[in-house]
Amino acid sequence: MKRWFRLLIAAIVPSMLSAQDLILATRGQPAAYTLVRAADASPSQIHAAEEFQTFAEQMTGVKLPILTDDAPLPSRAILLGNTRHTAAVLGGPADLAALGTDGFRLVSKPPHLLIIGGAVRGTLYGVYEALERFGGCRWYSSWHSVIPTRDAFAVPAIDETQTPAFALREPFWFDMFNGDLAARNKVNGNAMRLTDKHGGHSYRFGGGLGSCHTFNALCPPDKYFDAHPEYFSEVNGKRVKDYTQLCLSNPDVLRIVTSNVLERIRKDPGASFYGVSQNDWHNFCTCPGCKAIDDREESHAGTMIAFVNQVAEAVEKEFPNVTIETLAYQYTRKPPKTVRPRRNVMACLCTIECDFAFPIVASAFKENRSFLDDIRGWSAISSRLYVWDYTTNFRDYISPFPNVLALKDNVKFFSTNRVDYLFEQGAYQGRHGDFAELKAWLLAKWLWNPDLPQEPLLEDFFNGYYGAAAPYVRTYFDALHSFYRDPAAHPLRIFEDPRRTQVPDEFYARAARLWQQAEAAVKDSPAHLYNVRMGAVPVLNARLLRQPQQDEIKVWVTGDPARYGIPSETRALAAELLTRFAEAKDIRLSEGVETHDRTLAKWKALANPPPLPQPQDRAVIEDSLLSLGNRGQWGDTVADPLAEDGSAMKLCNTHYEWCTTLHFSQVAFDPGKKYRIRMRLRVEKEPGKEGEAFWAGVYDAKNKKGCGGCDRKTSAVGEGYAWYDVAEWVPETAHYFWIGPGRFDKKKDAANPALKALYIDKLELSRAD
Ligand SMILES: [Zn+2]
Repeated sequence: MKRWFRLLIAAIVPSMLSAQDLILATRGQPAAYTLVRAADASPSQIHAAEEFQTFAEQMTGVKLPILTDDAPLPSRAILLGNTRHTAAVLGGPADLAALGTDGFRLVSKPPHLLIIGGAVRGTLYGVYEALERFGGCRWYSSWHSVIPTRDAFAVPAIDETQTPAFALREPFWFDMFNGDLAARNKVNGNAMRLTDKHGGHSYRFGGGLGSCHTFNALCPPDKYFDAHPEYFSEVNGKRVKDYTQLCLSNPDVLRIVTSNVLERIRKDPGASFYGVSQNDWHNFCTCPGCKAIDDREESHAGTMIAFVNQVAEAVEKEFPNVTIETLAYQYTRKPPKTVRPRRNVMACLCTIECDFAFPIVASAFKENRSFLDDIRGWSAISSRLYVWDYTTNFRDYISPFPNVLALKDNVKFFSTNRVDYLFEQGAYQGRHGDFAELKAWLLAKWLWNPDLPQEPLLEDFFNGYYGAAAPYVRTYFDALHSFYRDPAAHPLRIFEDPRRTQVPDEFYARAARLWQQAEAAVKDSPAHLYNVRMGAVPVLNARLLRQPQQDEIKVWVTGDPARYGIPSETRALAAELLTRFAEAKDIRLSEGVETHDRTLAKWKALANPPPLPQPQDRAVIEDSLLSLGNRGQWGDTVADPLAEDGSAMKLCNTHYEWCTTLHFSQVAFDPGKKYRIRMRLRVEKEPGKEGEAFWAGVYDAKNKKGCGGCDRKTSAVGEGYAWYDVAEWVPETAHYFWIGPGRFDKKKDAANPALKALYIDKLELSRAD
């Protein structure tokens, strides 16, 4: 992980001390306190002592010594974990069992401070809590921390125990995978690079299966389908190999999947979860056996849970501590009516269909209403529950996605519905999605404690992360979110098209000014400036996407740059996005790599467009430039030695649709001038039969009328290629040229009896006045 820069805020924080405060370090004075850890402390407890020492020194300039507990109790100690001295100082044994792996207790027993926690992560988290809450330390992103400079670092009288709301806390955002950042914000997801010093992982998904979509790995269609199509989904009465699921009522499928899962656990033991779950598409099995179960259970989760239960029952005999995880996703999201997940089965419920502008409980959107029913249903029948929630726009990570004001209530809602494991999927392949670092940080806070109030956290982040630019960024943030606060607004879903959102175009002019003001406010603070410049990317992107769109020009019969050149604002926005992309290096633009690459290529093309073609009065349009509907069925591009370029578009005689078109939105022409269009065709006739050979024309899609056309009987055309005039007219962008093979009586014949095929070599468009 590349570090860009680390920020140390040099503001002096005034000390307001009270008599009960333990003053752990005072600037300019020798170390009053000693950090004490157990001699046999775990790697994360050793790290906890070092982190305390490091940040206390950064704050006060005082380096606190670290001792192990085989030495006598110092006169003033910060006891970490459960040391040999802890019980005596506390006045009784520490209740570590109540704290679990991640909880901690902060207790002041003057003159000592105790940070009691377990060996896994609890002690480390207790240290971060003290540094954050009483020292003011903040770790907003891997490159941006705020460690205040202080006269003194003091902890007030305290006795407080904290345990997390969720056992597994995973803000699945790219930067939060940094192990230090994750540990400092008390998150413990599998994607976080947590080493031993961070307490490692507790909830690994093993067997090379990951957490989702494992059917094809566990019973591969390539291996089994040809000999056993009955192992796979029956869809519309037919077993399918592509985009299939498993036939979950087939006993051989159960046997294959069970033995495959067991084999994978034996090869990779020690993980908590092994995934047995549907592929990432629909096509569930509808064979009589599967259908009977699903009908009875009123959900496709019926076959799923019944099947997974049987796998889990077999696994339990050999691996009693393993849990089999499955999805409650799309067609299996509704819980089954009578089947219950076994104690070693965990369903992963997914919010993919929901509206995220409002909290799930508050949105009137019908998908949110049905999700409420489903999560309550699963919560009632499950011994533990995993939720896969979505917190970004997966179509376009860098477009504004105002979901922040729903995050806290959603996390709280999951917690009250007994969710133990919460996965918050965001922009996980690169930095700087829309408010990416803010969302990841807020989620970390609320995954630990969803009751933390929202406003102080927002204020904290904006001030710490954007510095003097905070008021401008906050104004933008509030205004952006306001567009979706109207209950009549359309739902904010995870594939929202940035060109068709609730946000009006006028807003982006204001947004652009706000980000410019923000940039000016922090021009002398490189760390804040970087955050502001990256924060502005979604607005630049949205403005670019909302520039007047022009179809790609395929045919030039003019070269008028005022009409067909890329507008200067579009070029400037694309260039600016490229500049910021280069500054950030690892922005990821969308979940799909093809879309990411295409977007970048488009920016480059818009920023540096090639010169326009020379003006011309005539253009030859090869058949390859024409669109063809239903390619493969209605026609195709074929080699044709009789065509001038050796290639033609062949249209079949089985239909007479207007299947081949050229849209004038893709033609650069001079408006108001008259043009002529003609076409070079070859008609392959059925000898001795009479019928229609072709029909063609120009159609005005806006006014729904023809602008000229041409057709021929087979008797009126020769054997080879010939030119045919189609129309002379004044084109507009809503016009299109069309051609189809000749008409015939469909009630009588399956194909045109007079025509074998029609071949299009080229068109010609030329000025007619
Ligand atoms: Zn079936």
